[in-house]
Amino acid sequence: MAQEQFTISAMRIAFFGGTFDPPHRGHLAIAQAAADRLRLDRVLFAPVGNQPLKHDSSVASFEDRIAMVQLAIGGDARFQVSIIDAPRHDDLPNYTIDSICRLKESLKPDDQLFCLVGADSFLGLPHWHRAAELLTACDFIVASRPRFDFQDAQAMLPQGVRICGDALYEPGLSVVPISNHSGQSSTLYFLPDLREEASATEVRAALASHGASNDAVPPPVAEYIRAHHLYQ
Ligand code: ATP
Repeated sequence: MAQEQFTISAMRIAFFGGTFDPPHRGHLAIAQAAADRLRLDRVLFAPVGNQPLKHDSSVASFEDRIAMVQLAIGGDARFQVSIIDAPRHDDLPNYTIDSICRLKESLKPDDQLFCLVGADSFLGLPHWHRAAELLTACDFIVASRPRFDFQDAQAMLPQGVRICGDALYEPGLSVVPISNHSGQSSTLYFLPDLREEASATEVRAALASHGASNDAVPPPVAEYIRAHHLYQ
């Protein structure tokens, strides 16, 4: 009897960190666009336990945010919740560079890891912990967001990181190679066509003022918020 042969091909995986407080249409839109455009097998939605740059950041507990993300992503088999950024036992912030390094250790040699962020996060990236190292630790996918302009890629890069070759522009995607002082390199993939207005701040404000979420929140998440009396 002929033996069936299974080959497990390399995986293309994106780490997608955020507060997800609550998850909304904007998060789903950029994850879908990134997965489609970059042919991703997995997008790991990783709610952060303790955000280094947003003080007093999350209003809902980590457990509630995990539950809401699970409900939000239900419709896409490529999406998964990750607890890699769960609150640390030592109460220190969850740094993205640590999560990326741990994820890389868990992958097979041929797997490819990306970090997915919106334009607002990318513009703040020079302030992130070990930013120059982070940017070349894996490839980045940067999705546009209304009111955050990312035309000048070089101006957005942290000190010590530079564009190191010709950028490639095609409809819906710009590809920019970068490297740091130690010669480590990576690629930035810009998705310029996203125009999703949703923001968690606005969802929380709508809930606080008139007790109902706006239509930026997927119905199962809105139901969870209502049942658990969140953001009142
Ligand atoms: P808040 O309003 O509380 O600051 P948020 O809506 O920005 O929250 P986060 O969970 O902080 O949501 O965002 C996680 C990631 O998703 C970030 O990289 C952010 O840039 C990106 N993101 C969130 N909403 C959008 C959007 N509407 N368009 C593009 N990117 C987005």
